[in-house]
Amino acid sequence: MTDFPKELLAGYGLYKERIYSQFEEEYQNLAIYGQEPEVMVISCCDSRVTPEGIFHAQPGELFVVRNVANLVPPFTQGGGTHGTSAALEYAVTGLKVKHLVVLGHCKCGGVQAFRESNGKLSKTGQFVGPWIKMLEPAAITLACTPVDKNEDPQLALEYAGIRQSLKNLMTFPFIEKLVTQGNLHIHGAWFDIGSGSLRVMNKETEIFEDAQDLRARMKEQETAEHVPATAEEKK
Ligand SMILES: [Zn+2]
Repeated sequence: MTDFPKELLAGYGLYKERIYSQFEEEYQNLAIYGQEPEVMVISCCDSRVTPEGIFHAQPGELFVVRNVANLVPPFTQGGGTHGTSAALEYAVTGLKVKHLVVLGHCKCGGVQAFRESNGKLSKTGQFVGPWIKMLEPAAITLACTPVDKNEDPQLALEYAGIRQSLKNLMTFPFIEKLVTQGNLHIHGAWFDIGSGSLRVMNKETEIFEDAQDLRARMKEQETAEHVPATAEEKK
């Protein structure tokens, strides 16, 4: 007998029955013609934060890399075994995605481990420690900014970690070039697991804003832009 998890076998059965059968043609086309995702998401490994679920994405829509605490390492010369950097390189230079989204979330275990380590990251594991050390510049930036007494320190570092990852994205020459040319766009977002709320970082203020409000504002803008065109058409 196999010890393959029976929950996975049962789940696969449902996928084949309900999902695959519904999208069979799309899957076959993806297999024949390849993938052309326009968006890459850098998300946490956390099992509660699934980019495809949050963005209601279909197969082929999102190119996703997940790691502890959704961190983007800074660019380093000489390559090496950098899974996230390899995924970024392939997505940007190979697939030519148009958007990179760093997706953080509430109660992030990686961020919490960094906060609780008090600088002794060796205690957080031989791999996790050096990895979450990448949050250090974010923590230093936070320590240097005026303290908002009402702000949850965990949330503040989750936001700061996303901002730091966005900065690190720009250290990759192939990303910096395309962003400067306006051919690639980078974004920060944060997901609240309990309420299902998504916040999107405003690039000018670096403040995280409710995605539903953003959606409403976008719709208003689209309507406003459409009205003069309609009036023109009536003439
Ligand atoms: Zn996390």
